[in-house]
Amino acid sequence: MTWTPPATTKTYGWKRTSSSREGRGDWSRLRPFAWRRDCGLCQHIRYDTGLPCLAAGAVVDHIVPISQGGSTALDNLQVMCEYHHTRKTALEAAEGRRKARQGHRLGPGRGRRPGTLE
Ligand SMILES: [Zn+2]
Repeated sequence: MTWTPPATTKTYGWKRTSSSREGRGDWSRLRPFAWRRDCGLCQHIRYDTGLPCLAAGAVVDHIVPISQGGSTALDNLQVMCEYHHTRKTALEAAEGRRKARQGHRLGPGRGRRPGTLE
């Protein structure tokens, strides 16, 4: 008896949108510039001192997330240390969930779906 396994390659009907790629292309090119401008130091403003953290940076991050209408321009990029990046990401996720619950009343959209990562 012969058994043929079910075909695992499916062709999906939907078109792949490039919306998440087009922004990423720009900003990954700008990352080294942001890193050099900030000397590789965390630019996150500390709430307690009102001064930049200046710890050794771990990532280049968007100051205003793309999902909230931020641009991929150099002036919307900053170096962040691992600690502040983790915190910011968590805060943004919480914020995103809160807004999603309220419905999409705010947010300029600009052709992007709110909540799209980066
Ligand atoms: Zn920091």
